[in-house]
Amino acid sequence: MPVKVVEDWLNACAGCEISILNIGDPLLDLLPLLEFVHITALVDHKFFGQLGEKTVMEVPEAVVGIVSGGIRSLEQKHEVEQIRKQVKVLIALGSCAVNGGVPAQANMWKNEEVFEKVFRHCSSTESAPDPQDPNIPEWTPSCTAVDEVVAVDIKIPGCPPHPDWIVEALTALLNGQSSWSLPERSVCDTCPVIREQKSGGGAVKRCFENLEFNPEEGLNKMRCINEQGVLCLGPVTLAGCAGKSGVPRCVQARTPCRGCFGPIRKGARPLVDMMGSLTSVGLDPKTVVDRRAIMNRYIGGHGFLTPLPARPAR
Ligand code: SF4
Ligand code: SF4
Ligand code: SF4
Repeated sequence: MPVKVVEDWLNACAGCEISILNIGDPLLDLLPLLEFVHITALVDHKFFGQLGEKTVMEVPEAVVGIVSGGIRSLEQKHEVEQIRKQVKVLIALGSCAVNGGVPAQANMWKNEEVFEKVFRHCSSTESAPDPQDPNIPEWTPSCTAVDEVVAVDIKIPGCPPHPDWIVEALTALLNGQSSWSLPERSVCDTCPVIREQKSGGGAVKRCFENLEFNPEEGLNKMRCINEQGVLCLGPVTLAGCAGKSGVPRCVQARTPCRGCFGPIRKGARPLVDMMGSLTSVGLDPKTVVDRRAIMNRYIGGHGFLTPLPARPAR
């Protein structure tokens, strides 16, 4: 009998669902073993009845739940609580679900400040009053990772997560394992560039500044991006973005790691560790522009990003 799976997105962009499709040929081997009773973005099945005729959310019973996206509204909180009740194993898919993701950058401000900036005084579109529709779900106090609301059994980070790890985690479950995780190693551990443990010193350059490399030569001839003085979050980011092929995706493209896989292990403090890493090659970490946001870009949940206390008026 195929294993029933409920897949749902919360505060998400659909990139994680595209990663499921991106599994490609191995998905054809997996599909006979799985029965997706709900999979947002890919199959038209709804929790409130097909015509929205039900007033209570009905999540089908399943063995495995997969959720992408963090939690930004009371509706999403209710949704993930209902899914948790209906499944035996819950997988958090993608960096939004695992760590809050980019949307959790908004945690640097109070909700009221976000509304003020986004709705009432937006500088890039026409400003508007707050949405008046009572059907628009109320926000939670902050944007959280899924495990801040319900227990999560398996975490597959990445923005987007690599299809290899979705296959590996599902295969582990089908083989009777109840858990799966990526090994705790850093992006630097899988990076083939030249490292000399020193840089030219001074200020850290922003990540869009050009790197020095010869496009005719392999990565093993390119100097480490941090040692070139450009911020690369490889030292504090969990490895795995290139799937089983190893070499970090951004570095393959001769650009710095921005930290999308999140911290290497539970309890890590990437901002503090990254400042130490920059110092160790002679760079001044205080020169990183907007460093709190940049070094916590994908991990604003779990209290990593909170509103700063107002500065006293001068
Ligand atoms: S982790 Fe990335 S791809 Fe997945 S929902 Fe969040 S923003 Fe989209
Ligand atoms: S800092 Fe960046 S470029 Fe340098 S080794 Fe780590 S991942 Fe590679
Ligand atoms: S190099 Fe860093 S930012 Fe780029 S895909 Fe890998 S983990 Fe994500």
